[in-house]
Parts: sequence; C-alpha cells; structure tokens
Amino acid sequence: MATVYCTACNAQFSADFSQCPRCGMRLSGSGRAWQGDTIIASSPLAAAETAGVEVELDSLLLPGQMLDIYQCQKLLGRGGMGIVYLARNTSLQRLCALKILSPKHIEADDDFIRRFQNEGRAAAALVHPNVVTTHAIGQTDDFHFLEMEYVPGGSLQGEIDREGPIGPIRSTSMAAGIAAGLAMAHRLQLVHRDLKPDNVLVTPGGVPKISDFGLAKRVVGEDLPTPSLAGTPYFMAPELYEGSPATPASDVYALGVCYYLMLTGQLPFQGGSINEVMRAILTTAPASVRRLNPSIPLDMAECVSLLLQRDPRQRPKDGTMAAQMLRAVLGTTRDLTDLVYEAFNGLPGAAWDEEADGSFRVHLTFRDERSQVVHLENSEHSAGERLLLIYSLCCEASPSFYEEALRLNASLQHGGISIRDINGRPCFVMVDTYPRGTVTAEDIRRSVFELGSRADSIENRLTGRDVN
Ligand code: ADP
Repeated sequence: MATVYCTACNAQFSADFSQCPRCGMRLSGSGRAWQGDTIIASSPLAAAETAGVEVELDSLLLPGQMLDIYQCQKLLGRGGMGIVYLARNTSLQRLCALKILSPKHIEADDDFIRRFQNEGRAAAALVHPNVVTTHAIGQTDDFHFLEMEYVPGGSLQGEIDREGPIGPIRSTSMAAGIAAGLAMAHRLQLVHRDLKPDNVLVTPGGVPKISDFGLAKRVVGEDLPTPSLAGTPYFMAPELYEGSPATPASDVYALGVCYYLMLTGQLPFQGGSINEVMRAILTTAPASVRRLNPSIPLDMAECVSLLLQRDPRQRPKDGTMAAQMLRAVLGTTRDLTDLVYEAFNGLPGAAWDEEADGSFRVHLTFRDERSQVVHLENSEHSAGERLLLIYSLCCEASPSFYEEALRLNASLQHGGISIRDINGRPCFVMVDTYPRGTVTAEDIRRSVFELGSRADSIENRLTGRDVN
C-alpha cells in the first residue's frame, strides 16, 4: 500500500485513507462513504484547495496590507475553516490571530459561512485561560473574519512531533488544563467534537489552549443541521462510530486519546485504513500505557484508561469530572517532590535523592555521627486510597532479635517495627503510613526524623553496627 503525506499537517499514513487520520484534511476526490451512511465529509476549504484555490488563498493578504482595522503581518497557517494570519488590530494596537474566509468558499458553500459564524459565536461565549479567546467576528465587503487571541508557540501536536512523549507530569498537567477548558465549554452546553493535539495551542509558558471550535455545537438548542463531518478518526469515541451524537463524554474520550499520546508518543488505536482504526476502537483495548513506559505512575495509567472507556457511561461524564480526576492525580504525584523539598530543604543533617520510580531516600546524619536512611514511597493503591509509606530499615530479622524487637515495639508512640522483605531477606523495618491526599511536609519531617532515629537505635541495640 502506498504511503501518502497530508499536505496540511505532514502526517504520514497509508493511501487507503480518504482523509488525513490525524488532522482531518480531505485528501482528494469525493467524500467516501463508509460504515453505512456515516460519511467523513470533506471540509469546504480542503475541497476548494483540491479545486486549485490554494494559491489564491496564500496571497489573500500580503504583509503590511490592511483588512478593515487589521494590518496583516504574516501567514500563521491554514485550517479546515479558513486561513489564519498574525495581524495587528490597529484600533487597540495589539497583535491578534485573524482567521479569514475566502470569498470563493462562500460562493462554493452557503452553509460554510453559517458554520464560520457558528464557530465565532460558540467560541466568543467561552472565556477561559485554557481556551483561545475569540475577540470579534466581522465582515468586510469581501471577507468574513474572526479575530482571536494570538498564541505564540505552536500546537501540542508540534511539540509531540518534536519531542515524542512529553513526560508523565507535564502530560498530566497539560491534560488537566485541556480538561478545564472543556469543562467551561461543557458548562455552556458546547461540545468541541474535534479535540486533538493539533487543536491545542501551547503558550511559551506551557499553558494549553483549546482552539478551533469550528465543529463545536450546542448540545441543546441547536439550530443548524447536524453536519456530517464527524471529527478525526483516531480521536473519535466508539459511540460516534455507531451513530450516536457527540456529547461531553465523547470530548472526554478525545482528551483520553490526547493524554495517551502525550504519555507514550503513540496513539491508543491504529490501523492501516479508516475501517481498521474503527474496528480497533470498537473491539479492542489499547495497550496499557505502563506496558509502553513502565515509569508512568499507576494512577495516571488508571486515569487514561478511565478516559478511554468504551462505554461512555463509564468515563468521567464531562470536562469538569475529568479535570477533577486529573488534578487529583497531579496532586498526588507532583506534591511528593514539593513536600520533600519543603520538609527538608535547608535542614542540617538531612539530604535526599529521588529514585527512578519516583520514591525518595532521605539520608539522616545524627549528632553521634551515626547515620540512617529513610524511604518514602507511594503505595500501589488507586488514586483515592493511596498512602504515603515511610520506612527505615533496622537490620536483618534474625529470630534471636525477636523478643527484644517485640519489647521495643510496645514502647513506641509512632509507627512500629514490622518485618519486610528487602532484597529477598526478612528485615526489621520501622514503618509509618499517611493518607497520601492529606499528608503535610510537617508530618513527613517529623515522621522521617522519628522513624530514622528509632530505626538507627534499634539497629544499634540489636546489632551494635551502623549499616543502614
Ligand atoms: P484547523 O482548522 O486545522 O484546526 P485553524 O484554522 O484553527 O486550524 O488554524 C490553522 C493554523 O493557524 C493552526 O495550525 C495554527 O498554527 C495557526 N493558528 C490558529 N489559531 C491561532 C492562534 N490563535 N494563534 C496562533 N496561531 C494560530
């Protein structure tokens, strides 16, 4: 099968596709019917491009040229709904992104202008840090245009193309930001319907902003006929392939695909043709993200798989629920680094390092020059029940120490001695646990010093040595 490149996003895929599976760009010829009467329709702009309008579009505005109050600076890109320029709003003296429709498209498709205005209205109602703000919709003699906040930087897809997986923490914080933008849209009863990393712009400070509400549609009170355009195959929820309408839960699914892609650099479902992609989405489960990258924490993996549930009722029902879940995961993961820093930074006698699996070792040095290591690790529970496990190794648990160890245990106020398998040998350890969601830096500092000094004195009492 021949390989083709999408002229819009440069993705590479099998020629069996009639539409770019990544960005949705129609490739050539007429819209191909598949799966009964569901059609991935061509966008009018793409259709116009294949009809040879592309050159005319690129030279719509030259640098310095004025359109209404906008002075064009440079071409930013071309998309399904129009062509986008960096421009200066000369009334307000600010830079903006100006999306313009070509008159040719309006002639070619009456409904196009309605969709464009629909995009403008839908987007203008949405003001949120994680959504590209639409400032104005306007019209000159020749052009319809949309003034948007200019987001320098690039798209999330561009970042993934350049860097591959972007790391568990950054992926989760990106997904939480996107979910927050979706939450706002869903509160206004708007579904995006075409969420994908191409439609997420990232500011230089790393804030994701959802763009392109071109397919956005009110869940209720819809006055436009439902367009046949269905979204982008890899990001479409299973129920959409079965003819169900788009819902907030189908946006949540698309968010799950984005999250999976950020974490692993791979799409959860692939295939050599649209039918294969659809079959994979409808009948198979994606490979666990931890199989692709074992360093991804368990609760992040659980979160991805919840977002990607085949049954929409099993997913977080909208952006608000998805954002809550992602923020909880982010909190439990990111905080440990912050908490350890807060607990021990600048304290004499304590140094720490982070292990590859995200756990920490705190090295304590006592006044009598003895030393002890205390371990901090997250228990492998699901997000809500997670515990922070703090433990310190005393010595090997040989039966001759049992009696003394039991006596010591009875006198301890915090934590206790237990036997844990360390590198295949039973050892006495001092252990304490805290609910992961509520533990404070103060709890950690107190517990680490107490456990460490007790474990060390037990080691001293039982063995007379200072090994751990
Ligand atoms: P599509 O319909 O393919 O999602 P758009 O028409 O929204 O694309 O945008 C086309 C291109 O213009 C984008 O890929 C992006 O590079 C650029 N662009 C769009 N909106 C903005 C913006 N607000 N700020 C900066 N660049 C933008």
